[in-house]
Amino acid sequence: MRIVFLGTAAAVSTSNRDNTSLLVDDFLIDCPGSAFGKMKKIGYDPLKLKGVIITHGHVDHIYGLPSLIEMLRLSARKEPLKIYVGEYFHELVKLQLEIHGLLHQENGFEINLKPVSYDKQLLIEDQRISIEVFPVKHSVPNIGLKIRSTESVVIYTSDTESCENLIDVFCKADLLIHESTCSYLYSRRVEGHICAEDAARLSQLSDVRTLCLVHVGPEIDGNEQRLLEELKKYFLGQIFIPNDFDRIIM
Ligand SMILES: [Zn+2]
Ligand SMILES: [Zn+2]
Repeated sequence: MRIVFLGTAAAVSTSNRDNTSLLVDDFLIDCPGSAFGKMKKIGYDPLKLKGVIITHGHVDHIYGLPSLIEMLRLSARKEPLKIYVGEYFHELVKLQLEIHGLLHQENGFEINLKPVSYDKQLLIEDQRISIEVFPVKHSVPNIGLKIRSTESVVIYTSDTESCENLIDVFCKADLLIHESTCSYLYSRRVEGHICAEDAARLSQLSDVRTLCLVHVGPEIDGNEQRLLEELKKYFLGQIFIPNDFDRIIM
């Protein structure tokens, strides 16, 4: 599978980093900023998108969605588009699209808004990857994603606190893409989120191969190398903090 980091910042973006969203093969995960322009920038045709997953309704995860839909329509998309939304926010996203008159447009394409419950479940089975959902512990109901291909298992936590019962879900993952809004080294703990040191501890307990930190707070931006050195105390595997537009093949 191919993973592109379209953004890597927490709710407050910086001059280097926009809010976190990922493109995994043909699926967009969360939609802040100009996802359409970013996909173009990396050489991906946005018309090929098969689905969008909105993990939860915080503004840094959804505010770019109306614009993406409109840009796809103006680019003559005709294929229906599935938008999977954590069910607690289904009505919010529907309203967001309705306010902009995007749900039932002439010359538009069909938008299938699919509420996703918070039980562990298989959400998507595509040619090369499958995506499962599991609940995480945020200030609002939220989902994490377990993405499997024949070669690897990748986990994306979306926004979550440190959660011991996720160790079972993370266990032996090839890549854990964990949020890291704060760090004891640079900032105070933020309610509903995790500090990088605790993400590293959980990774060690879960025996994951590689830890990737995203949704990084503005205090971490610019201090990545020092933080990565510090995290070696807690996690013995590989750790990295991607820049926006970095990509990896798993
Ligand atoms: Zn967030
Ligand atoms: Zn959030």
